[in-house]
Amino acid sequence: MDHILVIDDSRAQAEYLKSILVKDYDVTTCQSGEEGLNLAKSGQFSLIFLDIIMPDIDGFTLLRRLQETMMTKYIPVILITGLSDVQHEERGLTLGAVDYITKPFSPITVRARANTHIKLFRYQMHFMKQAMVDQLTGIANRRRYKEYSITKWREAGRLGLPFSVCIFDIDKFKLYNDTFGHPAGDKVIAAVAKTASSYLQRATDFLARYGGEEFVAIVVGMEADAAFHYFQKIRKAVEELHIPHNSPVSQWVTISIGGVTLVPQNDDVYDNYLKIADNMLYEAKEKGRNRVVWSNGTEQVGGN
Ligand code: GH3
Ligand code: MG
Ligand code: MG
Repeated sequence: MDHILVIDDSRAQAEYLKSILVKDYDVTTCQSGEEGLNLAKSGQFSLIFLDIIMPDIDGFTLLRRLQETMMTKYIPVILITGLSDVQHEERGLTLGAVDYITKPFSPITVRARANTHIKLFRYQMHFMKQAMVDQLTGIANRRRYKEYSITKWREAGRLGLPFSVCIFDIDKFKLYNDTFGHPAGDKVIAAVAKTASSYLQRATDFLARYGGEEFVAIVVGMEADAAFHYFQKIRKAVEELHIPHNSPVSQWVTISIGGVTLVPQNDDVYDNYLKIADNMLYEAKEKGRNRVVWSNGTEQVGGN
């Protein structure tokens, strides 16, 4: 059931709105703007009803703050206005409220507007998610990676944590396609994604399809040696899927991984990290594939 937040300093009015909506939705009410903003940040709401005139923060200020906050900027807001508040309505809609309802409410209108905006919100969330997901594998796509990587990299720098990025590439995959066909190749890409993501489940772990048969992964808080060993496990897990291949590397499908672990420093450039990972991948391929080559920024770690 979708969650609706009602922010109105009049408890009676908030409860009345709730009584209109409660049959179809989970409704939370609160009486102050500050509390409303904090509740909204929880990320659980699909719609907010917001009273314009409140003693602590007025509805307009709150509307602006909701729109400036990452967690709340997409939640539709319906303003609650008095009967003759034409100017308020105009201002609210200009500021980005999706709609308004006028006191005294008609329950049918309130329900209809809630239904409409919740339906639109669901569509919007669905399409926003789609735009960030790779269709074949269901993991993040390159666009999402671009956003995520730089945010996490900066965060690791601020917190002084080791940041690892690596690139995986399926070995001799052109040969696989040539031998087993492109649709079978697609299944292999999906299987590699599934296996790798089963190892990258912590909140700060990240895996994306970088392109074609290449993936990129990010791990925060692991030293270089530990990261090397962790990705060795992933490499091995792919090999142990025992997907038949006929390559000079192995009788099974295998991957090569190149990675780097560094604590981001102020004058570092993110793209250089990716370049190091790419160079390590190149070395893994050169050394015979089906292996992990890892750098701590100065030298290779872990051996082979
Ligand atoms: P290496 O071990 O050096 O990585 O050899 P490789 O054959 O994997 O490398 P190369 O870059 O020559 O070929 C990559 C192949 O991956 C070519 C392309 O047909 C295939 N490929 C890329 N994207 C897809 C995809 O979405 N589906 C399938 N089935 N194949 C893909
Ligand atoms: Mg490739
Ligand atoms: Mg390849």
